[in-house]
Amino acid sequence: MAEYSAYHRRSVEQPQEFWAEKAALIDWHRPFDRVLDAGRKPFAAWFPGGLTNLCHNAVDRHLATRGAQPALVWESTEVDRSRSYSYAELHQEVQRMAAILLRHGVGQGDRVLIYMPMIPEAVFAMLACVRIGAIHSVVFGGFAALSLATRIDDATPKMVISSDAGSRAGRVVPYKPLLDEAIERATHKPGHVLMVDRGLQPFTPLPGRDLDYAAERAAVGDREVPCAWVEATHPSYILYTSGTTGRPKGVQRDTGGYAVALATSMRDIFCGSPGGTYFCTSDIGWVVGHSYIVYGPLIHGMTTVLYEGTPVRPDAGILWRLAEKHRAQVMFSSPTAVRVLKRFDTAFMRERDLSSLERLFLAGEPLDEPTASWIAEALGKPVVDNYWQTETGWPILGIPAGVQALEPKPGSPGVAMPGYKVGILDELSGEPVPPGQKGVLAIEWPLPPGCMQTVWGDDKRFVDTYWSTFATRQVYSTFDWGVADERGYVTILGRTDDVINVAGHRLGTREIEESISSHAAVAEVAVVGAADELKGQQAVAFVVPRDATRAASAEARAELAAQIMQTVQAQLGAVARPARVLFVSMLPKTRSGKLLRRSIQALCEQRAPGDLTTLEDPTALEQIRGALVSQP
Ligand code: AMP
Repeated sequence: MAEYSAYHRRSVEQPQEFWAEKAALIDWHRPFDRVLDAGRKPFAAWFPGGLTNLCHNAVDRHLATRGAQPALVWESTEVDRSRSYSYAELHQEVQRMAAILLRHGVGQGDRVLIYMPMIPEAVFAMLACVRIGAIHSVVFGGFAALSLATRIDDATPKMVISSDAGSRAGRVVPYKPLLDEAIERATHKPGHVLMVDRGLQPFTPLPGRDLDYAAERAAVGDREVPCAWVEATHPSYILYTSGTTGRPKGVQRDTGGYAVALATSMRDIFCGSPGGTYFCTSDIGWVVGHSYIVYGPLIHGMTTVLYEGTPVRPDAGILWRLAEKHRAQVMFSSPTAVRVLKRFDTAFMRERDLSSLERLFLAGEPLDEPTASWIAEALGKPVVDNYWQTETGWPILGIPAGVQALEPKPGSPGVAMPGYKVGILDELSGEPVPPGQKGVLAIEWPLPPGCMQTVWGDDKRFVDTYWSTFATRQVYSTFDWGVADERGYVTILGRTDDVINVAGHRLGTREIEESISSHAAVAEVAVVGAADELKGQQAVAFVVPRDATRAASAEARAELAAQIMQTVQAQLGAVARPARVLFVSMLPKTRSGKLLRRSIQALCEQRAPGDLTTLEDPTALEQIRGALVSQP
């Protein structure tokens, strides 16, 4: 491991030199004064004084050499269409979108909320924002009105960019009514809503507020919009993620550090070649989509594939047909997508010419060994796990094949990536634990370039949430349990907090509980994540009804359960909808009134409930056990 070890050691022991070198991978309009400003720990300001622009690095700087190369390829099996944009065409579309933003008063530092399906205009919108120094906040299209309203109030966008509808597995999913309801609920009112009309779902525009993209695009013509040179520390975007409270956290990312980190990862981790094709099946609403559908591949001069569709429609061969068609060199997907494919014949892969493909990367949730070896064997290509979070923006753990092709270790995403000083710490003392022992996966200050700068509008929450887990030392907590071996390979053992991971989507159980509590028939509720073969975890809700008759018969329970699921779906979106709603007359709590979530979760997974010395009433746990058996 000599090469990797020297590389990683240098990245954490001489971060200034290491990152100064990596900074040369991107264009700077004005060089930075220093690599790292350490003056405000635990905050870290990377490349202060430097002026740059994300859109310039993703698009403009390639024009001279790659103008005719496809930059963005859109494939939709939902509406059976595909479109390709060269770097020159992407440049033009982004300038048009930027001109529309400017025309309606969006300027540097203003927020723009993007609530869109997987269509090229969503990518134009993101790039247009960073082009003019506006800050985008993409909200996943699967979120519903309440989730959207919370984000509108937190980000206070000047403009919202949306669309009439998305499509999921061939069914039209209207966006406009959800958006209208969200704006109605929100206290903050955006000045304009720019609507990309796909012609999927008729809608009535609100005069004075709603703008039509096609008309606006025609009106701005071919106006040139130069990149605004912004400070390296200028926020590029906010991306909301779930935590332990009901209120989502706005992860704020910088500009210069992010570009440098992504450029580094494209070479050292993903081994992409400029001119090659990168096909990531994630969604632009998630961090993987931000980093590895949009910014990473484009910064690296690759062709990126934007896919609107599922992995099994029209059949389980679709991803591999697209990979073949576009000669994908790098693919990135999720363990859940692969587990879905596992139900089908591997001929779907074997029949395709995948000679261009070098590696398949998987991330977002634990990758089980059988799934990893199934897909590796079927593809005949290396499958590379990598572990990271919305907060970090790029991998914390992985295999840096561009530096040294380390042997992967089954069940482990790999070793620490450059700049990450990873430690496994004792939950109570905060002291490092020896190899082989479980502890909290923490990262020492400074977080490397590209990681979150702060919680949007709430520096205190950033420090209190992430840097205050241990009394003895100020380190960043990932809120994941981990165990390291002698060589530094880390295995992830689940979350230390109440966050669950359903098919790679991170959900706060508190958020789901708050939504369920809003149903008039609910007195109390506990939501836990239970192991699920396909999705990794699924949300299970235990509800105490106000009126016991609402749960007295199987029919009554089924009716109330359906209403509760519908409530969550309508408020938060289908992603958050619990898979099961079970009824009890009390919840297991400690004598001080804290919910015993870990015990409830253990019972859901048919494990022993653990330490019950503080349990107030043992019959409550019996009820959980009983409900799991007797209620379907
Ligand atoms: P998100 O911020 O939505 O990307 O979720 C991040 C969380 O997903 C992490 O804190 C982990 O709990 C989990 N996670 C992401 N990638 C992996 C992986 N490769 N292996 C295990 N867990 C992962």
